[in-house]
Amino acid sequence: MATDEKTPKTPHELLSFIKKLKPPSQFHLLSSTIEHCPITVVVADSQGDIKYANTRFAQLTGYTVEEILKLNLNFFYPGKQNTDDYKKIWNTITAGEKWAGEFRLRKKNGELFWGLATLKPLLNPPGQISYYLCYLEDITVHKRSEQLIEHLAFYDPLTGLPNRSLFNDRLKLALEEAHLLGHQTAVALLDLDRFKVINDTLGHIIGDQLLQLVAKRLSENLQEGDTLARMGQDEFIVLFPHINNFREALNRIKTLMEALQEPFLCENHELQINASIGICLYPEDGEDHMSLLKNADTALNEAKNSGRNHYKFYTSQLNASALKRLSMETAMRHALEREEFQVYYQPQVSLRTGRITGMEALLRWQHPTTGMIMPDQFIPLAEETGMIVPIGKWVLRTACLQNIAWQNLGFPPLRIGVNLSGRQFQEPELVEMVLDVCHQTGMDPRLLELELTESILMKDVSVTSMILRWLNKKGIKIAIDDFGTGYSSLTYLKRFPINTLKIDRSFVKECLTNTDDTAIVTTITYMAHSLKVKVTAEGVEDEKQLDFLTNLGCDEFQGYLFSRPIPAPEFTALLKDNRCLSRPHPLSDNSPPG
Ligand code: C2E
Ligand code: CA
Ligand code: CA
Repeated sequence: MATDEKTPKTPHELLSFIKKLKPPSQFHLLSSTIEHCPITVVVADSQGDIKYANTRFAQLTGYTVEEILKLNLNFFYPGKQNTDDYKKIWNTITAGEKWAGEFRLRKKNGELFWGLATLKPLLNPPGQISYYLCYLEDITVHKRSEQLIEHLAFYDPLTGLPNRSLFNDRLKLALEEAHLLGHQTAVALLDLDRFKVINDTLGHIIGDQLLQLVAKRLSENLQEGDTLARMGQDEFIVLFPHINNFREALNRIKTLMEALQEPFLCENHELQINASIGICLYPEDGEDHMSLLKNADTALNEAKNSGRNHYKFYTSQLNASALKRLSMETAMRHALEREEFQVYYQPQVSLRTGRITGMEALLRWQHPTTGMIMPDQFIPLAEETGMIVPIGKWVLRTACLQNIAWQNLGFPPLRIGVNLSGRQFQEPELVEMVLDVCHQTGMDPRLLELELTESILMKDVSVTSMILRWLNKKGIKIAIDDFGTGYSSLTYLKRFPINTLKIDRSFVKECLTNTDDTAIVTTITYMAHSLKVKVTAEGVEDEKQLDFLTNLGCDEFQGYLFSRPIPAPEFTALLKDNRCLSRPHPLSDNSPPG
């Protein structure tokens, strides 16, 4: 065995060793040296098929020499032919040049290892490549320590989280991507409240444990792609690389805050800790990572100043409206289950007979602290958040049940109008929902009138007209609400099965004083009648308006003059009184169509 000091230790030594040998006298010595040298040696032919491999190579890869001799060099390179690295290697060696570098290879057991390889083409006398000589050194251990060093440079040793410098890298990358793809990115800087007190009183061992637990808890509540890093002693930062709007950022942050609510157990101490959070968004609050970090810090200070366990957005304007909306949104989510919604009813009165012919269901929110909230204040938000869908269904159900209750009390069947929002119209199950409610409550669909605005009708004319026809076939009536304020054309109106036009109260208000409004109300009424559609005037507040509308031939009205919207028991009283228009009323010649 050639284990003397002449045994080559490196590829370089091996090569010069081979060069010094004079074949064939020293052939045996040569093969034995190569066979047992601590570096792997492989020889492959010009196609890469392995023709020789030494023992070390067999040991390293886990294959027997016989097995190896059936393989091609490619086999050990897991990336295979498609990678650029692979192409680079083969381009170099097929050009007759030596290639050296690191790459990962595969062992028989599937394990990957790092090899420092040298591939050298061997040329025959005419100068063609006849073989490839390959030396390989296992550098996995070295690689690991390199990675460890890298880890130390980019990760916080206490919590194992990315540190500031890795966070900055990730933030910069996220911003580039957000810029390219046009989405938002959020950065939330988080400072633990009262951490210093815990650290000072219970000692830094407990303090350290707490930080580790906090890091773990926060990590568990992130989504894939988010980065949580430790910035300072009790300061953490979160990157949400892709968010759609500030609401989403807020929801994610609230998840983190809620996660911290649960106490932490550190060596028999049950510790409660909260965080103050400063949030800022790209691109609104800063275009680059420096300004975002700075602004998140400003927001954090504001959060701390406004008491502990708070969050603040950098943009103060966003704060005020966001907070208000958010608290309303949260309250609204509970309002249904806490039964804070109520339906009021406003009578609709015939201008011919002076009697109540129907009512409109109008939503009210009896907020436990704010008091009564009117629909204009919360319906837009309910539409935006989609909550109008369950709320609208509840209104419909409540109105139907109430309508039946009145019939059960012996009052004549009255029509009930229920408002539908555009958002409800986007629900594919709308028709089914309405029919279900009628079915479940026992409501006669012919007494139900759904009120929609022009904008809903015009949004997707063909789909809407199909839905309306469907409803109409089941006997359900359709009214166009706030008519005149929207943008709809007569041609379109003819395509919808409409029963009623409700003239918006803004026109009714000045129908006697403003000539334009006089003309509008008059035209709408004539037009509606020519289309065999009933006309209801909204917001009638005085007798003069009533006279004008009566003479015009308007069919019904709704307004404070007769009654404001009232709760069901008051409406019952109204029905019991058999209340009708107090003054004698000229019977119009126009009999109401439909
Ligand atoms: P709207 O459908 O046009 O309802 C008529 C509004 O006019 C009601 O306001 C009613 O109180 C008011 N009003 C009636 N008579 C008079 C009057 O003589 N003078 C004046 N100044 N106002 C009168 P309300 O109840 O505040 O409702 C406002 C809007 O909120 C409704 O307008 C409707 O668009 C929406 N809304 C109410 N309830 C619901 C609901 O259950 N679902 C949906 N999607 N929207 C609803
Ligand atoms: Ca209405
Ligand atoms: Ca209206």
